[in-house]
Amino acid sequence: MSSNPQEIWDQILSAISHRLPHESFLTWFGPLKFLGLRENHLTVGVPNQFFYEFLDSHYRDQILEAVRQASGGQLQIQYKILETGDGESAAAEPAAQPDFPDTEAAFDKRTQLNPRYTFENFVEGDSNAFAKAAALAVAESPGKTPFNPLFVYAPSGLGKTHLIQAIGNFSLARNRALRAIYVTSEKFMNDFIFAIKTYKTTDFSRFYRSVDLLLLDDIQFFQGKERTQLEFFHTFNSLYQSGKQIVLTSDRPLKELVDFEKRLTSRIGWGLVTDIHPPDYETRLAILQKRAESEGFSLPEEVSQFLAGAITDNVRALESALIRLMAHCSIIGSDITLALTRELLREFLPAVRETVSLDHIQQTVAQFFNLPSALLIARNRKREVAWARQVAMYLCVELTGSSLQSIGAHFGNRDHSTVIHARDLVAQQVAQDPQVALQISKLKADFS
Ligand code: ADP
Ligand code: MG
Repeated sequence: MSSNPQEIWDQILSAISHRLPHESFLTWFGPLKFLGLRENHLTVGVPNQFFYEFLDSHYRDQILEAVRQASGGQLQIQYKILETGDGESAAAEPAAQPDFPDTEAAFDKRTQLNPRYTFENFVEGDSNAFAKAAALAVAESPGKTPFNPLFVYAPSGLGKTHLIQAIGNFSLARNRALRAIYVTSEKFMNDFIFAIKTYKTTDFSRFYRSVDLLLLDDIQFFQGKERTQLEFFHTFNSLYQSGKQIVLTSDRPLKELVDFEKRLTSRIGWGLVTDIHPPDYETRLAILQKRAESEGFSLPEEVSQFLAGAITDNVRALESALIRLMAHCSIIGSDITLALTRELLREFLPAVRETVSLDHIQQTVAQFFNLPSALLIARNRKREVAWARQVAMYLCVELTGSSLQSIGAHFGNRDHSTVIHARDLVAQQVAQDPQVALQISKLKADFS
């Protein structure tokens, strides 16, 4: 047995990787962070509670067996949940002191890439196609495109980290000798402070200025950190001048980075600035289906439609919901159903409870027009019924993330073109007729 905890952990991972499908291994073991040995416990960070439950319920036996083998029965494993409130992981970095290695082998360990974050696993839609194309171009020829630096901004949970790490994974797969490093801005700063304290700033600078591809995540973190910004400015210049590639992400656009050196933001603007938007309904569906598929879970269509309709602006939340669901179903050994999904998510994702459901809209509109709600679904062509139905369809489009297809299906299996017609007709009336506009705004107020 090795006496080095990191080596023991590597052996455990290696043993498990031989027993699992490749994709499952990457998904569930890739994000684990080895935090070190405490007494005789190997401490391992997991991204969040859902993740932990899933891991424990699916892979407990394999893990325990691998730990037993690798440690000769001497050690146990314990987990630490790393998530903070907004889903970003806190303390994601091991407490280990940084070093600024110059050997290639040591460098390899510093790349810090999660193998799951690849371009293949990144679902493309209108919301992210441009950013993805730019990232791919950069990954194919780092430093040799006009996209230097590449600056990607988007609110949390829309795939920035995924995309920036995909660049690293892709270009390293093509060229193992490439000196690529992924680092969060927080870690860059912490390492820099450590270097100052230990009189190693020269090592620090040399290290970061020696890379071919620098992937620096979440640079909004540098706001107000003057000295770190200055150090980064010099790193930036040095890399830029020698034709090395720089990729940066931020949760806000350049001009909203406050307490940021002007010359730094203006230099970042020399390259390509692009953003990622929240995914549309179809992209959300595709992300869910792809993820479930890669876990070997069959996700009924109505469930993925419900999730994609309920969680609209954050892919991380969408994934958490799915993981929660898969974890739960595997623990109790049941299939995923719509009823179960609603129930589980009511409890764990308050946002879902607040979304307006199609049923609720139908009932409210029917009441408003003093009609039984069944008439909205029936094939009744009376004018006032048709109008109420059109208003209800219009509100479903406006207020929910549901697709035209599923809205149509909810109104007695009508075609999506009927929904489009209703939406356009009501929108037109709202624009032309102040009475209708007032009616609709009263109705909408009921849902806010
Ligand atoms: P950010 O860094 O912008 O906060 P992340 O890159 O951490 O967001 O993305 C959050 C989660 O959503 C990750 O698990 C990521 O794999 C997933 N994700 C985001 N966008 C996509 C996409 N287009 N296709 C597949 N997965 C995605
Ligand atoms: Mg991120």
